[in-house]
Amino acid sequence: MDCIFCKIANGEIPATKVYEDETVVAFNDLEPQAPTHILVIPKEHISSAAEVTEENSKVIAHIFEVIAKLSKDLKMDEGFRVVNNCGDSAGQTVKHIHFHLLSGRKFTWPAG
Ligand code: 5GP
Ligand code: ZN
Repeated sequence: MDCIFCKIANGEIPATKVYEDETVVAFNDLEPQAPTHILVIPKEHISSAAEVTEENSKVIAHIFEVIAKLSKDLKMDEGFRVVNNCGDSAGQTVKHIHFHLLSGRKFTWPAG
């Protein structure tokens, strides 16, 4: 399968990784939308939030543990935003589930 985030997860394509364990990897976004912009992904290919099931959801819970750890390690004391785009109309461009972890500026709501 020609999936760019699978390739980042297995090291075929370089990325600036800020966290990695057996099931999850986090790396800096190529086009940061905030002073800190990290993508957190499962190593396993799950195409989107619409494909989360009872069988594969454990890694999604783990992703949120990793996000909490990163928020502390990187001192996101003022707050942070977690974003998941699911499907074309939501702006999902890479079809491997990923969570944007953004911090370091003020965010507006509702998101544009
Ligand atoms: P989406 O639009 O699917 O929610 O987010 C995809 C994100 O992946 C975008 O923010 C884009 O900048 C980032 N991205 C796309 N290709 C690469 C890449 O090869 N390396 C890195 N580090 N980020 C990428
Ligand atoms: Zn993939």
